[in-house]
Amino acid sequence: MRAYLLLILQIFFCSVAAMPENSPFPGGLAVLDIGSSEWAKFENKDVMVLREDNRNLALLGIGLQKKPGEYQIETQVGNFIFYIKPKTYPTQHLTIKNKNHVTPPKRDLDRIFREKREMNEIFKNFRLKKDIDLNFSIPSDGFVSSEFGLKRYLNGQARSPHSGIDIAAVQGTSVFAPSAGIVAMTGNYFFNGKTVLLDHGQGLITMYCHLSKITVAQSEKIKKGVKIGEVGMTGRVTGAHLHWAVSLNNVRINPRNFLDNTK
Ligand SMILES: [Zn+2]
Repeated sequence: MRAYLLLILQIFFCSVAAMPENSPFPGGLAVLDIGSSEWAKFENKDVMVLREDNRNLALLGIGLQKKPGEYQIETQVGNFIFYIKPKTYPTQHLTIKNKNHVTPPKRDLDRIFREKREMNEIFKNFRLKKDIDLNFSIPSDGFVSSEFGLKRYLNGQARSPHSGIDIAAVQGTSVFAPSAGIVAMTGNYFFNGKTVLLDHGQGLITMYCHLSKITVAQSEKIKKGVKIGEVGMTGRVTGAHLHWAVSLNNVRINPRNFLDNTK
């Protein structure tokens, strides 16, 4: 068996503009210095690698379900050890009037599973691209009405934690691409309503839900700041808002990881 060279990881604290901060906890992302390696893998999945100051950095999204502890990332030059720290998120109770949206009727389950599979296929995309702008702009005006990671109860029943952030805004408010990408998918889904998924490259996918209107088409290449749709209340909602989710290496992480990186 090949013995891997184990290297002590130097934790990289953000010192350069536009690179997200190292936030190695569930919902965050680990920013790992992998020296000269041009690729990285975690649990057999491709991990984003960006070049900065003559070294390569792996950017690994850490899912909310990930247990704290010691982990390894595989690279061209050996394995690197890193640690995932614990993080707890608050609880939120929501009341939804449409009971079918809390516990969907059997007739909708096929549709729900099919849509989930479709979206998961997009989240698995790993499109090679060298330059990725990780300093996102906020996709719409409005105020954040619900943060990422909240442990949610719908009408008293436990549900998955909140996988994005909600920006409450008036119906019709423009939604803009926070970074350049390709429109990976558009559709009208049971829970998410009218939805756009953008592929920014190397496993970074962003999703915009509950839109009243979609103004881009599938496969369209778009620049940062291009309008992609309008805020609405389609799908499972309590009012007009944008549900904005960010996925990296097929795990949903806090979109705030990519905001205000230049401060
Ligand atoms: Zn939401």
